[in-house]
Amino acid sequence: MSFKSILGQSQPKKILTNAIQNGSVAHSYLFYGPDSVGKKKLAIAFTKALNCKGVDPLDACDECESCMKIERRIHPDFFYIEPIKSTPTSREAVIKVEAIRELQNKLAYMPYEGKTKVVVIDSAELMNLQAMNSFLKTLEEPPSSTILLLISANPNRLLPTLLSRCQGIQFNRLSYQDIKSIIQSQPQEEETLTESEIEFRVYRSQGSVDIALAEDIEKVEHLRKQLLEVLEKVSFDRMDIIFNFAKVWAKNTEEIQTVLNEFLGLIRDLALYRSGCSQSNIQNRDLSLRMIPIAEAQSLKTWIDRFTIVRNTQIALSGNANTQLFIENMLIEFCEAA
Ligand SMILES: [Zn+2]
Repeated sequence: MSFKSILGQSQPKKILTNAIQNGSVAHSYLFYGPDSVGKKKLAIAFTKALNCKGVDPLDACDECESCMKIERRIHPDFFYIEPIKSTPTSREAVIKVEAIRELQNKLAYMPYEGKTKVVVIDSAELMNLQAMNSFLKTLEEPPSSTILLLISANPNRLLPTLLSRCQGIQFNRLSYQDIKSIIQSQPQEEETLTESEIEFRVYRSQGSVDIALAEDIEKVEHLRKQLLEVLEKVSFDRMDIIFNFAKVWAKNTEEIQTVLNEFLGLIRDLALYRSGCSQSNIQNRDLSLRMIPIAEAQSLKTWIDRFTIVRNTQIALSGNANTQLFIENMLIEFCEAA
């Protein structure tokens, strides 16, 4: 992809294009912002633009040998590092110091084919401490004709000494219109999405393309129906709802965070409806007829409190807490907040 073929993120594109135009490309950048909003795509487009053999000095042609090799990640001057799991069963992927040392050895030489060597470290916050410290040396004394580019959705987990040596470029969530255009431009594997299915994905995407594409519409519809019923009926007179719900989801611990995220999305929308917010901010706007009466049956404070209660439950359950117990407790607190 080239700059011009990437939708959205006009500000980061402008900063990078200006830097190329003015000959003021920095030695190191940090692309930061939410997941799945185009950071990696732009990093690759930037690498291509810096090395392209085509006629446009400010953007990649996407057709020359250099662009093709970068796209396939086989260009000898393009180094792409991402976290890997040490064994298939490891819980978290990590970037180890060995990967950084290997990179440093390769960076000792001049570019082979291109004008500029580019290093992209994806999910840079997953470098372990040793790797970060080792990479810091490269940042402090960058090799000639080399650009170092860190990508992170959680830059606060990077060492401050790394942060201070990079020019930060902030990426924001994509607009509804950008997400819509991106979904429409994707090749459809199965049947074509209808207009209303596209709208549904766009409104619920939270500005992230991956979320928009991953949505399982049928499953979501079923879950939302179930959760709205709980939010509508739960009370100290209906303890049966509490126990049944907790029992069902205690058996399904893998999905519990998805359920709680869905609760958060619905409660957020209910709070917005309750405060008289306009429809354009509502993620689940297709359910407005069902949701508005539920929203109005409680105070705004109740919805805000319930949001916090779900968030606290999520945090507790990301550890090893007993799912059934915590879900029961969450729903009892829902009643108390009413
Ligand atoms: Zn090219």
